[in-house]
Amino acid sequence: MRRWNLFAALLPLAIVIACQSDPRPYARKPPRDYSRPPSQPNPPPSSGPRTSSHNLLRQVNLIQDMVPKGRHGRRKHRSMRPRYITIHSTQNYTGDAFAHAKALKRGALRGRNRIGYLIWHFTVQENVAIQHMPTNEQGEHADFDGPGNRYSIGIEMCEHRGNSRQATLDRTAKLAAYLMKRHGIPIRNVVPHYHWPRKGRSPANKNCPHYLMTNGRPGAKWRAFLNRVNHYHRLIS
Ligand SMILES: [Zn+2]
Repeated sequence: MRRWNLFAALLPLAIVIACQSDPRPYARKPPRDYSRPPSQPNPPPSSGPRTSSHNLLRQVNLIQDMVPKGRHGRRKHRSMRPRYITIHSTQNYTGDAFAHAKALKRGALRGRNRIGYLIWHFTVQENVAIQHMPTNEQGEHADFDGPGNRYSIGIEMCEHRGNSRQATLDRTAKLAAYLMKRHGIPIRNVVPHYHWPRKGRSPANKNCPHYLMTNGRPGAKWRAFLNRVNHYHRLIS
């Protein structure tokens, strides 16, 4: 049992690190049209009953379980005015959002980056979203010392067994819409991890979140997700 626990504790680390170095090939010149705002949300339509951003946040079911200030991924304070929202998926098939919160709080997720630890702002699963750090601080989830870390809020979507992908996507879309409204971020700045090239890595653009990419890069599935974010954003605008 104890050995299993150790394995379970280390697995998220192994998988997150694997997520940073996925060797799958991509096209040399990826199209950038995915970053355009969707012109017609379809589906779902934006004609539903309007709501407030407060109500939308209540639907997200957000829990704050912060990494302590000054520790691990927050050991250096680096302020941020967020201009982007970066969407990831964990590629961790055993760890739920609570397991990721625990791992971040005990400094179990190390990374070869500016501070030696991985950290992001939110982890979402089918029934809850957990916040790990304030949105006015820089994380370590996208592109080392690049703009993805310096200017974006990082959201990880869980993939553990039994977790509903559709419910997770919907909750993530609501959270992203809320954050767009809160920080004045336009839909074109809601981007996949793929958007941020990682210096010194091959391929530079990561296949993440992998299940929203098409042949390793943004396509129809990503645009459908953006449409969903846009739908919720319009309901509170
Ligand atoms: Zn990622």
